[in-house]
Amino acid sequence: MGRHRPISAPTVLLVMSLLVVALIGGCGSSTSTAADRSDPALASEESTTSSSSMTPPTAPSTSSDAVPATESPTAAPTPTIAPHLPRPLSPGLAGKVIVIDAGHDGGNASHPAEINQLVDAGNGVTKACDTTGTGSFDGYPEYAFTLSVAQQLAGTLRAAGAQVVMVREDSSGWGPCITERARIGNEAHADLAISIHGDGNDTPGARGFHVLVPVATAQNATMVPAAQRFGTLLRDSFPATGMPVSNYLGTNGIMARGDLGGLNLSTVPKVFIECGNMHNGDDLALMRSAAFQQNAADAIAAAMGSYFG
Ligand SMILES: [Zn+2]
Repeated sequence: MGRHRPISAPTVLLVMSLLVVALIGGCGSSTSTAADRSDPALASEESTTSSSSMTPPTAPSTSSDAVPATESPTAAPTPTIAPHLPRPLSPGLAGKVIVIDAGHDGGNASHPAEINQLVDAGNGVTKACDTTGTGSFDGYPEYAFTLSVAQQLAGTLRAAGAQVVMVREDSSGWGPCITERARIGNEAHADLAISIHGDGNDTPGARGFHVLVPVATAQNATMVPAAQRFGTLLRDSFPATGMPVSNYLGTNGIMARGDLGGLNLSTVPKVFIECGNMHNGDDLALMRSAAFQQNAADAIAAAMGSYFG
């Protein structure tokens, strides 16, 4: 027998699987390689290292235990069922200018030179213009999920009388850069802005949503208290979608971040939400369902309604 055997089919499958995993990673934390973490320009806009942000083992649980399944007593406690939420039509939303920033874009992967250009993300941070985002292992992309929630949120807010500004209306282009995403909200003099995302974290058992709130920087200091207040309202409203509070990032579903251009450069109250972990089967089953996407939009709108009173 010769030493150089042909590559076996199982070996080819293994290599292909690893390639797929490598390509899908982006928004999530544990998909980052050591090289990624050493170069901030390669890091995803909202990704972070799991080692520095895991909930301490001694912290009280904030995960699925905090989400009573009793809200839908007739529904089986399975993550594939999204409970019905009423459409919020708070009078406080009427006339408000709200910017909806659907994370990433469908053309980012085919425009690496454009989205990898370095930009000033504020607070002393330099990073890529934008990233491709994450997605499910079977090819459902984060950018499609974020746009779907954004579009349904826009419909709900407009029905309530708000003036909605969309950072992007479809997934056919690339970007815009994180600097532009912040500028759009600033120039609209938005009363509130939200950036919608899904995470892609490979830590076993990692699931749930978390809200990213700003820390005070030179540019955004005046809006931080309002953003933190909205972030808390959003954290409180979102479990009604059936998605539990994150058990792997943040504290009680909220994480303060000083490295996000979308927050550092915003002069209007803005938060990010990671609606769930697309690398977790239970979260993904929710996130790809139309019912959950509508409920997510309604939960965000309900928090906005509470914010404006
Ligand atoms: Zn993202």
